[in-house]
Amino acid sequence: MNERIVERTQEFRANGAAPLDVMCECSLEACEDMLDVPPSIYEQTRASATRFIVTPGHQIPEAEVVVEDHDTFLVVSKIGTGADVARERA
Ligand SMILES: [Zn+2]
Repeated sequence: MNERIVERTQEFRANGAAPLDVMCECSLEACEDMLDVPPSIYEQTRASATRFIVTPGHQIPEAEVVVEDHDTFLVVSKIGTGADVARERA
């Protein structure tokens, strides 16, 4: 049993694809969705001040634009005020 866990961990380290449990970052107060997100995409999204990971359908079209569709989750980019702040910092 333990051996199998170690094997899985090593496999994940080797290909870097172990998904992270990420909480949906939408604006819905009651939302507690957990999403499986590959670390590379999570880091990429975190690197941008205006990008967030949400469940498909949880995006707000007036405030966010979908920049990546990964089927089980979306990467959205804030538009309007949030985006202006990000541009000023760049
Ligand atoms: Zn949500």
